[in-house]
Amino acid sequence: MEPSYVPAQQDEPAKKAGKLIMQICQSLIGGKPVNSNLPVIEKRYPATGEVIAHIEPASGEMLDRAVEVAQQAQVSWAKTDAFERAKILHCAASLMREANDELAHLEVRDVGKLFSEAVSGDVPSGIDAFDYFAACITAQNGDFNKWDNAIGYSVRVPLGVCAGIGAWNYPMQIACWKSAPALAAGNAFILKPSEETPFVAQRVAELLQAAGLPNGLFQIIHGDADIGAAICAHPGIAKISLTGGVETGRMIMSQSAHSLKRITLELGGKSPLLVFDDCDFDLAVQTALDANFYTAGEVCSNATRVFVQRSIADDFIAALTAKAEALRVGDPMARDIQMGALISARHLAKVLDYVAIGASEGATIATGGQQLQPQGFENGYFMQPTILTNCTDDMRVVREEIFGPVMSVLIFDDEDEAVRRANDTDFGLGAGVMTKDLGRAHRVANALESGNVWVNSYNLLPPGLPFGGAKQSGFGRENSAATLDAYSEIKSVYIQL
Ligand code: NAD
Repeated sequence: MEPSYVPAQQDEPAKKAGKLIMQICQSLIGGKPVNSNLPVIEKRYPATGEVIAHIEPASGEMLDRAVEVAQQAQVSWAKTDAFERAKILHCAASLMREANDELAHLEVRDVGKLFSEAVSGDVPSGIDAFDYFAACITAQNGDFNKWDNAIGYSVRVPLGVCAGIGAWNYPMQIACWKSAPALAAGNAFILKPSEETPFVAQRVAELLQAAGLPNGLFQIIHGDADIGAAICAHPGIAKISLTGGVETGRMIMSQSAHSLKRITLELGGKSPLLVFDDCDFDLAVQTALDANFYTAGEVCSNATRVFVQRSIADDFIAALTAKAEALRVGDPMARDIQMGALISARHLAKVLDYVAIGASEGATIATGGQQLQPQGFENGYFMQPTILTNCTDDMRVVREEIFGPVMSVLIFDDEDEAVRRANDTDFGLGAGVMTKDLGRAHRVANALESGNVWVNSYNLLPPGLPFGGAKQSGFGRENSAATLDAYSEIKSVYIQL
């Protein structure tokens, strides 16, 4: 998720990958595509609005079959030495790296985000998860205890069949951040990608198979909330990791309650960026832009509430506005474009509605707020990077997740006030602090109620740095050794001597 506006390198591999776009997306069960008779879901390319695929949603019977196949495959996978499992996952990472451009191209078709972002951010970050968790699993040790007449040891054992339910904004990263730890820990994994983004997961499945992962260990079940609910209810699935909205998180918990599934919830946010007057001004301006307009603002941890200290607020808003107005919006594949499309017409309408709500609540639209129809992409889902000023903490645009390119700017006077207002939210995913004062950086990072805090940077997540939410942003952590614990449980053995 490295924020950058690097120009796209779309060349032969990317064009070649265009041929991989499927017209029909079918669930992958036991290594084979399986057709379904349920009504198809149309998949549109966000940059043009064209229907580019039909997704066949899986039926309940198909899910039953996938779980059965997964259960059979998992038994021998769990018995395979961790070192052997790791070799396959490392091999998968290598094959995915070779296919980096293809995967990025698919991600563009899925999401409408910039090729330059997919190729340098989402895709490599997903691939790294396979190398990272392969390394972690080979280093995993158990515990040992000794008493007068007995010894005991405990080891981590896999859960069985785990499922991932994905959001649409980071399909590659979501697929990999969930499946890599699940597989490393000795589980079988079933992925339900978002019904908006079916492509990239299919290619991940092919590459895992090519790396030697036995059939049945990584399967894809396509469909929407209906099959998602069936996954939650399925007695053969031990764990679900969801990336999605807060309301969906609540549904997943209640739907999974009967079968007492383990759950990880990566949910939404309304994260603050605190810009103090002792910051590196240019860095702070760029960070605020990246933390709002990268992937057209469709990033869960984005810092959509930018709190600026009063003494620099006027200059800061002027610099932000000028830079936002200079961002070029359009064809996600074009080298000179800096913001791509939003995911769908419905989502674009929702984001534009929020801008109108903000204006009706008294916010000033400092820049943006309008839909865009770039030449040649008139039917795509584009809008202007938008900055709202004169915001107050009680406005809906300041309290609710918008999930688009809309930044709210708020002004504060001192550190205590900034921290108190930053924490005045039900969410707790990310937060940022821009300051050159080391003491303040630590003090504020400690006081902020969120799973992640970035100082003088934002949204950077190298492998090994736990990522996840506090409060209503969810629970559980991805991208770190702790994630393996969520895909396994402890077994203790007591031996009387
Ligand atoms: P969503 O909650 O609408 O859907 C997420 C997934 O859940 C989809 O696959 C959907 O089909 C499935 N689903 C929906 N209802 C379900 C149900 N009742 N039972 C089972 N499955 C169900 O989210 P979205 O619109 O795809 O993504 C945007 C949301 O995801 C935002 O709120 C964003 O903040 C969040 N998100 C969080 C993170 C994170 O890591 N914390 C990352 C990316 C996105």
